[in-house]
Amino acid sequence: MSSAPALALENPVEASRPSRLWRPRRVLVTPAALEHAHGRAMLARAESLGLAVERLSANRLPSPREPDPRRAYTAAKATLALTVAPPTKLRLQPIPPSADWRFDLAEGCPAHCQYCYLAGSLQGPPVTRAYANLDAILGNLDAYVGRGAVTSTSAERAQEGTTFEASCYTDPLGIEHLTGSLSAAIRHFGAWDAPVQLRFTTKFAAVAPLLDLPHNRRTRIRFSVNARPAARYEGGTDTLDARLSALGQMARAGYPVGLTIAPILPVPDWEAAYAGLIRDAADALAGAPDLDLTAELITHRFTPGSKTVLRGWYPGSDLPLDEAERVEKRTKFGSVKHVFPKPLMQAMRQHLTACLARDLPAARVLYWT
Ligand code: SF4
Repeated sequence: MSSAPALALENPVEASRPSRLWRPRRVLVTPAALEHAHGRAMLARAESLGLAVERLSANRLPSPREPDPRRAYTAAKATLALTVAPPTKLRLQPIPPSADWRFDLAEGCPAHCQYCYLAGSLQGPPVTRAYANLDAILGNLDAYVGRGAVTSTSAERAQEGTTFEASCYTDPLGIEHLTGSLSAAIRHFGAWDAPVQLRFTTKFAAVAPLLDLPHNRRTRIRFSVNARPAARYEGGTDTLDARLSALGQMARAGYPVGLTIAPILPVPDWEAAYAGLIRDAADALAGAPDLDLTAELITHRFTPGSKTVLRGWYPGSDLPLDEAERVEKRTKFGSVKHVFPKPLMQAMRQHLTACLARDLPAARVLYWT
């Protein structure tokens, strides 16, 4: 098997490249956001970075100015809105197999992944909205502790307590320098007098502000990673090497960590590519004390709706979205997903789990999907 470049040791320049810190071209601030101390703190961060801030006179976000959908998409992706989470956000939804409950510190993401999981699931233009009513969002979680399907049905995960996923609709680390919301959540979970776990996944690497937080091992950060040939589908994220370096830093800071290998794709020479990824992750984690490591393995899939949205957002992409190469899978709600055929799924599953067992035996595989 050919080897992808190993982390740090063989590629020090790449790994030490500063993290990509998003600078939105437009920051919109609603009046309601400024009623909250956290909203005012986020505004102060934006102003201190010299970003173009527009204070809105109403709480409704303005419609896109661009009539062309592609330009409207680009403009929305360059916009951060400081706003207030609507009351519906405080009624949490179960989110198996990732966690017991989903909660949202924000919605939207500044990156440009050509397979974006949010395509088709968010309403309206993809403006990133950061929520100012953070105290209410975190205070609301109390009511859900001790409830949930994931931890109660899995002996292996019961030790984690009630799990709360914060990255279903955003990448909280990718906007942390603008919000501070993730650090506040990590502190909140760290101070909790109950078995709970905060979980989030990221494609970013600016972990320095998190390293010394009193996390009390109650936050599991998972890095979303993929085989190197798939990196070209991920725009605006930190590099794979930077993410793996950040993974090692967080593990050495005592955080439970994880690999979210996604979306798994049969890229050319995929066996060697995924073996190289797992070896690089093992190198990054070498010497981490008391390593608590999980792995989540997620194959690529798409729906008719997400395909339409992605084709509009990324018209030049060669991401494989051909229904003829897939099989249909029905969700419990009756909608259709296009997934890889069973023999390919089995081959990929067997290979990735064997690589993990060989090179990262500490990893507990939580699920394959
Ligand atoms: Fe979408 Fe996640 Fe990529 Fe952001 S990081 S663009 S949410 S897939």
